[in-house]
Amino acid sequence: GSRAAASLAALVVSVTAETIDTHVDELGRLDQIAGDGDHGIGMQRGARAARAAAESAADRGAGAGTVLVHAADAWSDRAGGTSGALWGVILRSIGETIGDEDRPDAKSVAAGVAAASRGVMAYGKAEVGDKTMVDALVPFSAELTRGVETGEPLSAAWAGAADAATRAAAATADLLPRMGRARPHAEKSLGTPDPGAHSLALIATAIGTLLAD
Ligand code: ADP
Ligand code: MG
Ligand code: MG
Repeated sequence: GSRAAASLAALVVSVTAETIDTHVDELGRLDQIAGDGDHGIGMQRGARAARAAAESAADRGAGAGTVLVHAADAWSDRAGGTSGALWGVILRSIGETIGDEDRPDAKSVAAGVAAASRGVMAYGKAEVGDKTMVDALVPFSAELTRGVETGEPLSAAWAGAADAATRAAAATADLLPRMGRARPHAEKSLGTPDPGAHSLALIATAIGTLLAD
């Protein structure tokens, strides 16, 4: 029922915050190479605020979609930075798509991730190949949709999509940045993956492990 879905939504946000806590220094170092070094701390601030908002919404009896929308607003309010606004777009898109009614099925989760992918591209104007989180999010969404459409359960489709995101994030090392703060330092960033693509892949992988349990 909707209670279980809301608890799972809050757990997903909590796992996201734990993942960022574990990798905060690594993300800061990655962003130091061609950016301003704040990707770890910004993601940590956003994800922790999102976790608190998600837990309190779930405690008040909100449904899964509303839990994610509250998490989205807290993340973008508290994180600062480009990635904070974009993670707000991601969580809000998924929350609005799955809604509160019932236990969200795999198709609506995949549709929510597809909406998130379109929303991030509309908000940030980056396309695949610009060396941003879009380079991980687009293949993640495509693989999740493909898996769900072939009838895989959500946990299996998500795991395959997280692997695709991980490979795609690693492959951004070969790209020159065309968006965001890294653009003026394009050559310096060659050989290093995009921080936002890397953090997205870490989060997707951790949620995949949660869904498999
Ligand atoms: P800021 O760049 O404001 O310091 P962060 O360091 O938290 O914010 O996030 C940087 C990440 O944000 C980049 O690695 C990239 O993945 C992502 N990013 C930056 N600009 C865009 C954009 N226009 N569209 C999508 N993602 C972007
Ligand atoms: Mg930064
Ligand atoms: Mg910054």
